[in-house]
Amino acid sequence: MTGRTAIVTGGGSGIGRAIAERLAADGHKVAVFDLQPSEIPNSHVVDVTDRDQIDKALSLVREDLGPVGVLVNCAGLDGTKRFTDLSFEAWRRVIDVNLHGVFHCVQASLPDMIEAGWGRIINISSSSTHSGQPYMAHYVSAKSAVNGLTKSLALEFGPAGITVNAIPPGFIDTPMLRRAETRNLLGGTVEDHIQRTPVRRVGRPEDIAATCSFLASEEAGYITGQLIGVNGGRNT
Ligand code: NAD
Repeated sequence: MTGRTAIVTGGGSGIGRAIAERLAADGHKVAVFDLQPSEIPNSHVVDVTDRDQIDKALSLVREDLGPVGVLVNCAGLDGTKRFTDLSFEAWRRVIDVNLHGVFHCVQASLPDMIEAGWGRIINISSSSTHSGQPYMAHYVSAKSAVNGLTKSLALEFGPAGITVNAIPPGFIDTPMLRRAETRNLLGGTVEDHIQRTPVRRVGRPEDIAATCSFLASEEAGYITGQLIGVNGGRNT
């Protein structure tokens, strides 16, 4: 494996952290962009909705690790509200983080990949985009747009040697999922969901990280514009 410079947004927690660790174990030079500071090497405190912060952190990454070859957009913010009670501010923040954050990070990183004639972009969306999710219209809208963005960018940048795929995860055991369970927002407990999942377990961050590892590899060069569900067989 030739080590590429890889950026993982949201790499400070949950799925993103597992992805950052896996890509580092694969031999990539990994940097993390997250709102929260962390002890992970090459971590940068970045709000993915703020282009200036992204550009400044990217300059440091290029100096320290070299041009970006792999970008994993994993930073995410969920939210639950009956649509009639959803404020426009809450709608906008969820769209900002989950969709506009991807826009900014992709646009800022693409020049390195175009220059190299090689790149891997992996967007972490959500299995809720398959069927919708009550009380999460803003989140599902943003993640559905990420799926669409993935397909369009794959067509646009395939000729430049860049693949763009999305992983819509099912229920993955992370702080985000456990917060939702505690607040009674899952429509049941995690255990209830396990019983409705064909493989009868909750997903692990490492399940997503393993898929990401493959999509970032040389071997995955003929896969682009795809939504690779990692959900234990449950497309909801
Ligand atoms: P998490 O809350 O454990 O981690 C999310 C990370 O994103 C946190 O470290 C947080 O600080 C960071 N973040 C949030 N807003 C940010 C911003 N504006 N700028 C930079 N960083 C920001 O959640 P997770 O469960 O690990 O989720 C990771 C991704 O997977 C998210 O995009 C989420 O929507 C998606 N997802 C998770 C599940 C699940 O079951 N856990 C299911 C489907 C999709």
